Amino acid sequence: MIIVMKSGATGDDVRHVVERIEELGLKAHVSQGTERTVIGIIGDERFIKKEQLSLLPHVDDVIPILKPYKLASREFKQENTIVKVRDVSIGGEEIVVIAGPCSVESEEQLLETAEVVKAAGASLLRGGAFKPRTSPYAFQGLGEDGLKLLATARERTGLGIVTEVLESSDVEIVAEYADMLQVGARNMHNTKLLRSISSLDKPVLLKRNFSATLNEFLMSAEYLLAGGNSRVVLCERGIRTFVEYTRNTLDLNIVPAVKQLSHLPIIVDPSHGTGRHDLIIPMSRAAIAAGADGLIVEVHPHPEKAFSDGDQSLTPDDFRQLIAQVRPIAEVLGRKSAEPTSSPVRSKPA
Ligand code: PEP
Ligand code: MN
Repeated sequence: MIIVMKSGATGDDVRHVVERIEELGLKAHVSQGTERTVIGIIGDERFIKKEQLSLLPHVDDVIPILKPYKLASREFKQENTIVKVRDVSIGGEEIVVIAGPCSVESEEQLLETAEVVKAAGASLLRGGAFKPRTSPYAFQGLGEDGLKLLATARERTGLGIVTEVLESSDVEIVAEYADMLQVGARNMHNTKLLRSISSLDKPVLLKRNFSATLNEFLMSAEYLLAGGNSRVVLCERGIRTFVEYTRNTLDLNIVPAVKQLSHLPIIVDPSHGTGRHDLIIPMSRAAIAAGADGLIVEVHPHPEKAFSDGDQSLTPDDFRQLIAQVRPIAEVLGRKSAEPTSSPVRSKPA
């Protein structure tokens, strides 16, 4: 249920309604829009009568939300949410590009990549210190040492860092270093992890599970929002289908579908979405054309030597091309996108 306050309702009027909701044993989430204030009610609403709330002073309307996700829905909040990660805004006019290696491997590898992606126009640095690998014999990440290297790279370049937290017991340590916590595709359904992140004052990049429906994806976001963390960015990273020429099938349909149903920003990961470095630039262009708020892309100075995901890592040159080719598409859509801070590149024909 959402309560729409009359325009001109004061802070005291809103507080009064919130108190009444809490007296009824429910939780209230206030969303202050530019036009109106909306209060979302979370909890078991079965025994509540609409009149108990609609007759309160300065209440304009009480509307049931029919979707299973409430706080993530457009019904609850009409304006797009903009998530701030340090000085970077995701979900606004700017297309945000997050780039970096799949895994943090060494100081040399990370700093070289960080400097390259920063110069090319990336806004945030990605890199996994705790890696979810299919094989227990594959490189599992450097753990806290990797987090320390990410912090060094941030100091060196000024780029905020996005890194994955694999389990609840690591949340504290990862949050100490990261500017944005990544919940990986395998963990999208891990409600315990989602709950433990939901009470943090830290933005979250929530990746879609390979087999998650749109409803399930938004319900996972709902866990974060209901727990009090409203700084959620969704990420489409490809789903499992019958195709075998790509690692996953990048479901770009979900971008405009999410935009209709939710106010949350959504970015696209064409690296995991394709698994092929030669498809990343075209699918990045397509993602931005579909309305994505940004991209997360794997870049490695020497993909052939990467400890993980070398096949889907762009070289620095390719990454500069990606930035150059995405920009005109963003502009056509009335959006801004990153520009290189050094040595401009000319766009190659597609
Ligand atoms: C990653 O970003 O390196 C990663 C493991 O992604 P996903 O969870 O989408 O597989
Ligand atoms: Mn990867």
